[in-house]
Amino acid sequence: MEKKLIELRNISKSFDGETVLRGIDLDIHDSEFVTLLGPSGCGKTTTLRIIGGFEAPDEGDVIFGGTRINDVPPYKRRVNTVFQRYALFPHLNVFDNIAFGLKIKRPKLKKSEITEKVTDMLALVNLKGFEKRHVSTLSGGQQQRVAIARALVNQPEVLLLDEPLGALDLKLRKDMQKELKSIQKRTGITFIYVTHDQEEALTMSDTVVVMADGKIQQIGTPTDVYNEPQNAFVADFIGESNILDGVMIADRSVRFAGHTFECLDGGFAENEPVDVVIRPEDVDVVPVERGMLSGKITSVIFKGDYYEIIIDVKGFKWMLETSDFVAEGSVIGLEIVPDAIHVMKKSEYSGRFGDYSTYSEEAEHLSDIVSDEEAAAEASDSPDTDESL
Ligand code: ATP
Repeated sequence: MEKKLIELRNISKSFDGETVLRGIDLDIHDSEFVTLLGPSGCGKTTTLRIIGGFEAPDEGDVIFGGTRINDVPPYKRRVNTVFQRYALFPHLNVFDNIAFGLKIKRPKLKKSEITEKVTDMLALVNLKGFEKRHVSTLSGGQQQRVAIARALVNQPEVLLLDEPLGALDLKLRKDMQKELKSIQKRTGITFIYVTHDQEEALTMSDTVVVMADGKIQQIGTPTDVYNEPQNAFVADFIGESNILDGVMIADRSVRFAGHTFECLDGGFAENEPVDVVIRPEDVDVVPVERGMLSGKITSVIFKGDYYEIIIDVKGFKWMLETSDFVAEGSVIGLEIVPDAIHVMKKSEYSGRFGDYSTYSEEAEHLSDIVSDEEAAAEASDSPDTDESL
């Protein structure tokens, strides 16, 4: 692991008597792509603003390269920020928007030096040839690239990005995710990225910091937080999960859903109540007589390369993914191998996330929201945009 660049030590923050951050401890390393991930209001942006110096913590220390910088103003920190609303200068062209920070630098830079740096940045964000275009004639994706180039041209050690792709439609957002990751790799600049989109976080990050209720719930690689969630909140927030109440009988033996399963977990007290998480893709659908559990299928949704099915096992609705077609109303067996079971300590989030009883209504509601968003994005697309650059 690279050397530590930023350390947050026991950071707390309240607004109007409401505690927003509660004892945040976080190490961020040189050249790392770190994402703060969590639901709206969990304190991600406030954490980012504290790193940028736009907000002061009530308690705790912000350390940069070993030095406490709590009292250093934003413009003296070696960080730069890209916001969701990119705030470009509308009366300037692309070149002058990117060159702005360089032109006000003292001692003054040579004109040729500025041109070289801006040209390099335009190449980096795939906007070669756009120098003279006015930013008002650019599409949302292109404007966001200009904002990124403008932030990177000053060669900050750290780039803070607050939901920078939030205003873009889904397809463009996916393309920009890849580009941002590639820019980060090529420049080696530390990126601290805020999003509530778990897929975005898992795709781009070296390290994911999952937050809820003003606290860090887990810090890990994307595979860690997916495969080894720390508690029921993380298991529910990242990916789909069946979360069941269980009892740890002994090391490598856990009981849930009325059956005792072999698992890989240990280190719990005898008969300790636990939360058990099982991902939909990790359960095998088998004939009833071979199943450790069995249940009736209440819903089947075709997803292209697999079927997403809901099964009622003694009143608990499981979600499973299977590549074989199974008919609604049929009774099937479930086989769960030790590797598919992940046991977690009970936490304040235990029991807060139910099964998939209400899933079909949720899914319908979500697809309504998505189609509204897409319709709005299409309606606002300007005819001269060209995203194929
Ligand atoms: P979102 O994704 O919605 O931006 P977030 O996780 O980034 O959420 P924050 O923006 O950090 O969350 O906000 C956390 C809480 O602090 C929210 O309840 C918010 O209303 C409150 N808050 C943030 N900034 C201020 C402020 N300047 N004054 C008062 N309350 C604030």
